[in-house]
Amino acid sequence: MGSALDPHRVLLNDGNYLPIFGLGTSSTDKPVKGETVEAVKIAIEMGYRHFDGALMYGNEDEVGEAIRAKIADRTVKREDVFYTSKVWMTYLSPTLVQKALEKTLKDVQLDYIDLYLVHWPMGLKPSENELFPSDASGKILMDDVDFRETWKVMESCKEAGLVRSIGVSNFNRAQLEMVLKMPNLKYKPVCNQVECHPYFNQNKLLKYCQHNNIVLVGYSPLGKLNYSKFVSPEKPILLNDPELKKIGDKLHKSVAQVVLRYQVQRGVVVIPKSFNQGRMKQNMAIFDFELTNEEMKTINGLNKSIRYVTLEQKGSGPKCP
Ligand code: NAP
Repeated sequence: MGSALDPHRVLLNDGNYLPIFGLGTSSTDKPVKGETVEAVKIAIEMGYRHFDGALMYGNEDEVGEAIRAKIADRTVKREDVFYTSKVWMTYLSPTLVQKALEKTLKDVQLDYIDLYLVHWPMGLKPSENELFPSDASGKILMDDVDFRETWKVMESCKEAGLVRSIGVSNFNRAQLEMVLKMPNLKYKPVCNQVECHPYFNQNKLLKYCQHNNIVLVGYSPLGKLNYSKFVSPEKPILLNDPELKKIGDKLHKSVAQVVLRYQVQRGVVVIPKSFNQGRMKQNMAIFDFELTNEEMKTINGLNKSIRYVTLEQKGSGPKCP
């Protein structure tokens, strides 16, 4: 049942715990059928207990199938597994939030979601059928929904027991403040999931979140190698960084392990995606070594404010994982 990763959890501001290390499940634009099921099953066998998903990724049914299979064969119990999902940008209007959640619950076929996030602070034209509603010219249609209205429904989803914890993603400080200052706020976001790696270390946002007892979850912690078409070729490749390589060589660890360790050591939850058995194993082996203060400082100094994930992709409007 247990896993070597079990002790590595962070306490959330609502009293629940979030494993500090998990598996990202956003694979590609069009996930290969069956690939996610196999990867998540293997991950659970290896000891992964935290899975980061979203309605937008189009493979929640497979994540759920794998979790249910591993519960059925008694590898884990439901309460051993932590599943995060996210309400997509076309569902932010208060009448649609619960519909998004119901779709996710139906796809994963679990009784509850451990953590439910507002995927982005801005809305797209409300739709249950299209992820990127567009006009005749292909222009993506935005919506001026106020995410504080979305948040009120998130709170009622928690109260209904459909989700255990609620949080946000891709919120900047001003947007977080807007939620925190809501009159009659019932629950603070437990976390803010944002892009975070040594080239975009989010030091200021991390400080702000820590000050407000909000956990920072870092996505694309390896520099997002997955969607090469979303990554501008002119951006430097994080895993090729010579300073990181030097640190890794000294410690006999890969650059991926160094950048993941850097995050957990500063209290950032990481969710690297890999569907490759060898790399999944490598990524979780970050709890048997420590970076020195000097090495942490060197890594902090690599910040270049490089964001790999942007809403504008090749001029085609919002497209993001
Ligand atoms: P990432 O985890 O930084 O990188 C994933 C890529 O790195 C994949 O191509 C993977 O390929 C490769 N990889 C994994 N381990 C490796 C290793 N040890 N050495 C070399 N390459 C390795 O990027 P990401 O998938 O964008 O981010 C992780 C997760 O964060 C996503 O899956 C998703 O759950 C979440 N996310 C959330 C948002 C949001 O808006 N909230 C946005 C982006 C991502 P293989 O599979 O072939 O190993």
